[in-house]
Amino acid sequence: MKAGTQKRPDRCGDFPREDEIWRIVPVKPPVVRRQCPGCRAGLFESTGKFRVNANKGRLDVWLIYSCVRCKRTWNMEILERTDTRKISEQERKGFQENDGETALRSACDSRLLQRNRAEALWKTMEYQVERSPWRKMGAEKDGPKERSVRTCAVALQNEYHLPVRIGKLLAGELGLSRKALEALAESGRLILPEGWTLRTKPGEGALQKHAVLLFLLSESDGNQITVGKEKYLYDY
Ligand SMILES: [Zn+2]
Repeated sequence: MKAGTQKRPDRCGDFPREDEIWRIVPVKPPVVRRQCPGCRAGLFESTGKFRVNANKGRLDVWLIYSCVRCKRTWNMEILERTDTRKISEQERKGFQENDGETALRSACDSRLLQRNRAEALWKTMEYQVERSPWRKMGAEKDGPKERSVRTCAVALQNEYHLPVRIGKLLAGELGLSRKALEALAESGRLILPEGWTLRTKPGEGALQKHAVLLFLLSESDGNQITVGKEKYLYDY
């Protein structure tokens, strides 16, 4: 292949070619802002460690945070005098053994943070999107070649209820600018669940944490998406 004829430029996006599952998972929990009695920084990070007190069939659990500047600790209450019979064996083990997944889940739990009057700085949270093929049960036999318009569905899973704006997530995953993404939605090539806009944060509050997004790709598009006269991917 001659230089300059390579197909994909670096900035090309990554549209789903087949139905996919996108799982939004945290990598690093948000930093928490609250008053620190030791210094003025007032920013705390999860240590990933729990403090557990078991007494007469009751369990107290805290997640330990540490001030980013003076290292003073603050315990975020997770369970208070909770009947141990109401806690699964697996959950209890997670607390007692400082399980990383359990600590991450607790430090990203917006309801828990609110209850503790801790202000989570969500911009400091890091997350990733795990993409995997998704085969619907009883999917039709005809291959995409027999259809003039191909639909790719993305099943979005946000089981941690992370307050991530759908527009930001899609722009990152598809390698599109905000403007290009809006054009995609306006042209009807990207169909969001009912009532959603690009500003929706799935999984937040009462919003569903699982949803399906649809992309309409015509067969002739191949590896690119055409929005009006503009082409994305190869000709970006
Ligand atoms: Zn401090």
